[in-house]
Amino acid sequence: MSYSDSSPNSVVRVTRDGSAKISIVVPCYNEEAVIGLSHARLKAVLESLLSSEHLDYEIIYVDDGSRDQTAVKLNELAAGDAHVRVVMLSRNFGHQPAVTAGLDQASGDCVVIIDADLQDPPELIADMVKLWREGYDVVYGQRTDREGESAFKLATARVFYRGLNSLSDVDIPLDVGDFRLIDRQVVDAIGSMKERDRFLRGMISWVGFRQTALPYRRAARAAGESKYPLRKMVLFALDGMLSFSLAPLRFVITLGLSIFVLSNVGIVYAILNRLLTDQWVSGWTMLFIAVMFMGGMQLMVLGMIGEYVGRIYMASKERPLYLVKRFIGFHDRG
Ligand code: UDP
Ligand code: MG
Repeated sequence: MSYSDSSPNSVVRVTRDGSAKISIVVPCYNEEAVIGLSHARLKAVLESLLSSEHLDYEIIYVDDGSRDQTAVKLNELAAGDAHVRVVMLSRNFGHQPAVTAGLDQASGDCVVIIDADLQDPPELIADMVKLWREGYDVVYGQRTDREGESAFKLATARVFYRGLNSLSDVDIPLDVGDFRLIDRQVVDAIGSMKERDRFLRGMISWVGFRQTALPYRRAARAAGESKYPLRKMVLFALDGMLSFSLAPLRFVITLGLSIFVLSNVGIVYAILNRLLTDQWVSGWTMLFIAVMFMGGMQLMVLGMIGEYVGRIYMASKERPLYLVKRFIGFHDRG
């Protein structure tokens, strides 16, 4: 599968008697410092879309078990604005489950996923909507530039995306986060995918449909700090790799085969050496190294297989991906 931009069909999404609606999904975890500002910027964009294009909107904030005043602030926003809905999760479930919770509640004809920290400029939503109206089902923001990120984060992100694509079965576009617009059809498709290890950008690539990129500069965080420390980034990368590919397992097969072939060469050499010359292949050092090598290799491989088995185990429990404590502002739906 490849993700060169497919050109849209002749389908042009026109507002049918003003009935089109956009849902914005904003996952929030300890974002008290920035949420007010985010809301104001989102609101400005959406109000202008409402008046210029008759595009109705709702903003769904998902409070991912924040420990600060985020929930209080979201409550205030919901009280003062009929477009605001809040889904409060029962604890911190993580970014991807939080986005999933928002998608599950979104009622719009299209949905935009955007972070709360204003790293993704809300103003781009207008351009995304334009492309959606032209018939694209997925418009993903593609970072051309990232301000305020450490060189380390940039480099690891780069290596990660390149590596993932070469390993996995779907092509995930480079330098793309979760900031994107997706059509209702895609939202429903994602909703039907019940996998636990949610790697949304991969899942959205996997579903297909007409996808296109919208280049943008990723700004620095407006306030607060990143909730993706190195440990989480590594786990996230692992999720991406393991849930989108069996490549690690295939790699193990190739590795085993190579070692087997190599050891055969060694055996032939040892025998010929003994028969044709008066020398022995001697020494316990070589033996020791070989044993250690194989032992290490086998443990590593076992661990890798174990990782897949563990995921099967977790999946077999079929627990919900997240639990909701409270819904606020869903006036139209009980
Ligand atoms: N987030 C979340 N739950 C978490 C961690 C993060 O909902 O457990 C949200 C966070 O509030 C933000 C978005 O996910 O809106 C992206 O997080 P962050 O900005 O910390 O990640 P980064 O941009 O540094 O990769
Ligand atoms: Mg961020």
